[in-house]
Amino acid sequence: MRVCFLGLGIMGRPMAANLVKAGHEVTTWNRSAGKEVEGARAAATPADAAQGAEAVWMCVADTKAVEQVLFGPHGVEAALSQGMIVVDSSTISPIATLNFADRVRKRGAQYVDAPVTGSKIGAEAGQLIFMAGGDPAVLEKLQPLFSVMGKQVFRLGDVSKGQAAKLAMNLQIALIYEGFAEGLTLASKLGVDLEALVELIKASMVRSGVVEYKAPFVLRRDFSPNFPLRLMYKDIRLMLDAAREMRVKLPGLETVEEIYELATEEGHADLDYAATLMLLEKWAGVEVKAKAAS
Ligand code: NAP
Repeated sequence: MRVCFLGLGIMGRPMAANLVKAGHEVTTWNRSAGKEVEGARAAATPADAAQGAEAVWMCVADTKAVEQVLFGPHGVEAALSQGMIVVDSSTISPIATLNFADRVRKRGAQYVDAPVTGSKIGAEAGQLIFMAGGDPAVLEKLQPLFSVMGKQVFRLGDVSKGQAAKLAMNLQIALIYEGFAEGLTLASKLGVDLEALVELIKASMVRSGVVEYKAPFVLRRDFSPNFPLRLMYKDIRLMLDAAREMRVKLPGLETVEEIYELATEEGHADLDYAATLMLLEKWAGVEVKAKAAS
């Protein structure tokens, strides 16, 4: 298919590379220069990249970035045409998604929200899970693209329900990781062998995909960004906005938000969200690490 891919960050770049590898005709655009994908044509503007594409795929930072890419100067809007499908794999506001979809549909194109889970490793391996909102027939047309970037697509309902599900997913990731980080901090202070603790977790009902993904990075104190803390913090604010709007109380998440706020003040925003652990370590006066890393 002729695909336009907008946003070549941690996630977008490997996603676009997998489309090229599978033989799709890919045109890319990234806000700052210097990020390109081998085998794809690099365009100067989103509108230029989208011209003549069957699918326009976005993976940019946040709601504002999606709005700019679609409707800002030289945005995709100018290139929208009948039958074109716009897909958003960024994690953004479900309410703004409805508004963007309306504006895109007025120009004859279709809109699908398809945020992802699987992080950097999943994107590189073409093993992402997509959570999609949109018309089933439109999703079917995207199957050749979903299948090379990911391993599964779940349809959660109409447009915006993919974003809503993504917020519910990341809410759990943030809270599960916080539980893991607090457990590690207490265990460290009590002198437990942390590699043995992680093996125990994996063998017990405490195990989780989040812990299995994060434990190796944490135990070797590698906080380089797979999922930057600033983006999880952005998601937490989206969750709390949605909760306020729907009159839902989320006390656990409100506490975790404070941790992200303080971790940001400590200068950890561009590290992985796993670096929220460093705040707990500071408060406890302990450093969490495997014996081998000592
Ligand atoms: P990233 O590495 O920070 O990349 C962000 C991308 O958005 C870059 O291409 C950046 O361009 C672009 N961008 C930022 N602001 C922009 C604007 N105003 N206009 C146009 N482009 C703009 O982030 P990422 O990890 O790839 O994440 C991308 C999206 O996927 C986010 O919504 C994130 O929440 C979501 N997500 C991430 C993960 C993960 O594990 N990393 C997992 C699931 C979902 P520049 O290069 O110019 O900065």
